[in-house]
Amino acid sequence: MLGLMQEWPLLCTKVIDHAARNHGMREVVSRSVEGPIHRTTYADIRQRSLRLAKRLQADGVRPGARIGTLAWNTWRHLECWYGILGAGAIYHTLNPRLFPDQIAWIMNDAEDEIVFADLTFIPLLEAIAPRVPSLKRIVVLTDAAHLPQTTLDVVPYEEWLAEADDDFTWLEADERDAAGMCYTSGTTGMPKGVVYSHRSNVLHSMIATQPDAMNLSSRDRVMPVVPLFHANGWGIAFSCPMVGAAMIMPGPKMDGASIHELLSAERVSFSAAVPTVWMMLLQHLQSSGATVPDLKRVVIGGAACPRVVCEAFEKRYGVEVVHAWGMTEMSPLGTLNVPTPDWDGLDDDALYRLKEKQGRVPFGVEMKVTDDENRELPGDGRSFGRLKVRGPAVSSAYYKGAGAEAFGPEGWFDTGDVAHIDPQGTMQITDRAKDVIKSGGEWISTIELENLAVGHPDVAEAAVIGVPHPKWDERPLLVVVPREGASLTREAMLTYLEGRVARWWMPDDVAFVEAIPHTATGKIQKMELRKSFANYRLPSAEALT
Ligand code: AMP
Repeated sequence: MLGLMQEWPLLCTKVIDHAARNHGMREVVSRSVEGPIHRTTYADIRQRSLRLAKRLQADGVRPGARIGTLAWNTWRHLECWYGILGAGAIYHTLNPRLFPDQIAWIMNDAEDEIVFADLTFIPLLEAIAPRVPSLKRIVVLTDAAHLPQTTLDVVPYEEWLAEADDDFTWLEADERDAAGMCYTSGTTGMPKGVVYSHRSNVLHSMIATQPDAMNLSSRDRVMPVVPLFHANGWGIAFSCPMVGAAMIMPGPKMDGASIHELLSAERVSFSAAVPTVWMMLLQHLQSSGATVPDLKRVVIGGAACPRVVCEAFEKRYGVEVVHAWGMTEMSPLGTLNVPTPDWDGLDDDALYRLKEKQGRVPFGVEMKVTDDENRELPGDGRSFGRLKVRGPAVSSAYYKGAGAEAFGPEGWFDTGDVAHIDPQGTMQITDRAKDVIKSGGEWISTIELENLAVGHPDVAEAAVIGVPHPKWDERPLLVVVPREGASLTREAMLTYLEGRVARWWMPDDVAFVEAIPHTATGKIQKMELRKSFANYRLPSAEALT
């Protein structure tokens, strides 16, 4: 017997309909690319998205077409997402921090027909657009008055949009239809296309807004510092309108001072970003003496959140930190580290050790750790292995069947991360599978060593890589960017780590560098780092030869 409930497709457009109807006057505030602060509402965003969908149709866009965006977080980018979805097309966020060759490759793989681009990215597009034959139109997210000279054939967004009215009905869609695309950063091999559906986006946002996840409500004023072009914008473009939270969009300026200015002026209560952004903000707060009295909670993910960052936020500024883990393939939320009754009575040290973990899964994500033979490992908080996940907002395949080896039987997706899970279900990432150090048959977690190293006051950034060793196969090398003006020595660094890690985890050497290479999504590029230390020999290895 079937249930007798209505079929109500989980469509992304229903989210903006709900926001406009029930939270219509809630604000969306943006730092525009042109400079001034811009204010609008969910009701207005919906109206303009309707026009955008109609205007796209006039340009010949058909359901299923891929429409690129090369843009910062602003109200216009949000309108693009909903307008594209409403025309039955697929928003495809492009990461401008990738190399032009990679962006061109990705646009060609997706066969983008139109691209919406911010003023900032016109020079980039001048290099790329001629190499993307599927591209029929470039819309610059500004008005005619701000349109610069360019070799490209472009139209200004405002005037283009004004050519349509808002007398439009969202195109009917199946909830399983593709809604969005985002390519993984591809540190190995070519980037792979992740394709979200309407259903996965809506379910993901329902999961994300829960109290034991991001805990969002209409009383929140949310600043997504994480760009919409990173990992589906962490779903925030749907979560906020779903609950009627105001959005404060930082536009192109993400330095500590600019973020702080918006946090204060707009009384932001919640924000989400990668650790490096928060480190910049904390440095700004420390040097300027400023505070963040309205900020209640920050979600930190995308890379491991070091204990110093967590403690600084909570103890110095009274901001609760939620450490989260996820990936593009998971829409992206996987785990969140939020308090449970088991935390009651923990002392300070135990609490902050626990907060370094990546957290527990919300309903809608299943997770396990296996060995290389796909045998599940015990959840004892020690046994680490390959982290695998499944759920309604987890990829079942990449676009065009790329990278099929990551998708195992029964829906288990191999994340490429190495982790352990404790008896409470709290997961801790110890490494990317390709970065883990294998020393004498045992594994050493580079992330744990890095988190400890950045706790030293003279360390600005740290990375640990494995280097060949004749006796142990590999031993850890700690690569450090010292803080400006600091005179940190190898001995002082190693003394600091002594007693904080198992003896055999101690780095064999410390190398000081001016900068550590990063990927386009801000992660440490270990492969590049390993290349630059390819000829390096550990003193401990020299001693054996
Ligand atoms: P992306 O798809 O670009 O967001 O990258 C996802 C990858 O980032 C994950 O597979 C992890 O390796 C890493 N990552 C994300 N969040 C965390 C975290 N909180 N701690 C450690 N690594 C993380």
